[in-house]
Amino acid sequence: MQELIGACVECEKPVYCKEGFLDGVLIENHRVLCFPCNDRRAAAAPTAKEGLHDRAKETP
Ligand SMILES: [Zn+2]
Repeated sequence: MQELIGACVECEKPVYCKEGFLDGVLIENHRVLCFPCNDRRAAAAPTAKEGLHDRAKETP
């Protein structure tokens, strides 16, 4: 079972939550990044952000 979380803000690819595991990274304003774009961002603008908060929001 997978739940559509939203479209990646970079490539607009749909990002799903698969069995509780988010197939990307949640960022501000309820937006989401897929892993490849998140990696690209991290490489382009390195921040000391460690500790991801993977919050799978379940909205009925
Ligand atoms: Zn992307």
